[in-house]
Amino acid sequence: MQINFLKKIVQNTAGEQAVKLVDLLYNKKDINEFLIAKKLGLTINQTRNLLYRLSHLGILSSIRKKDKRKGWYIYFWTFNVLKSLEVLEENINKEINDLKNQLSSKQQKRYYRCKICGREVNEESALLNSFTCSECGEVYELSNNIGAVEDMTKQIAKLDKELNYIRTEISIERDKLDKKLGRSMKREENKKKEMRRKNREKNLAEKKKALKNANKKKTKKKSNK
Ligand SMILES: [Zn+2]
Repeated sequence: MQINFLKKIVQNTAGEQAVKLVDLLYNKKDINEFLIAKKLGLTINQTRNLLYRLSHLGILSSIRKKDKRKGWYIYFWTFNVLKSLEVLEENINKEINDLKNQLSSKQQKRYYRCKICGREVNEESALLNSFTCSECGEVYELSNNIGAVEDMTKQIAKLDKELNYIRTEISIERDKLDKKLGRSMKREENKKKEMRRKNREKNLAEKKKALKNANKKKTKKKSNK
């Protein structure tokens, strides 16, 4: 399910040729850009164009390493699943809003339709052309928009459902990230504790040593007397 959403956002952003990228990068980390170019069958410049477009939106992230022999940088790419889902959520939200606006304008306004060429115009345009088709001259009929309204309503329902799935995925990914952050914070905390413990031991050992040395000096002094 998730991978299909990722494919959708990649397709929306970078086009059909980039969709293969999802299979290449999904559940993997730091993939060499030259390998990506090879697998996509694109030149390295075409590939970089795609990758930059996606990374600009935060869908991908990269690290770079210097190629010691050739002296140039190579980029290694990773999918940012959470960010991708968030971008997709935003896109679908926008799509739904646009459709809802269209729908309410269809429902509120009257439209006219030419039965010969299928042209549909709003009332103002129909009036301007004396209710005859500007293409073929046929008299316009009042269009009740039932087909279009039904299509849009279905489309909105479909997108709403998709949005719900995406939101579920987003909350799962956020939980994962929180746990990961929690774990790494704990690790940091443990590291610090361990360091403090070592420091304490070191200090104690130094004090003991100093005390021992002081005692030695004392006994030396005594024996000198
Ligand atoms: Zn017509």
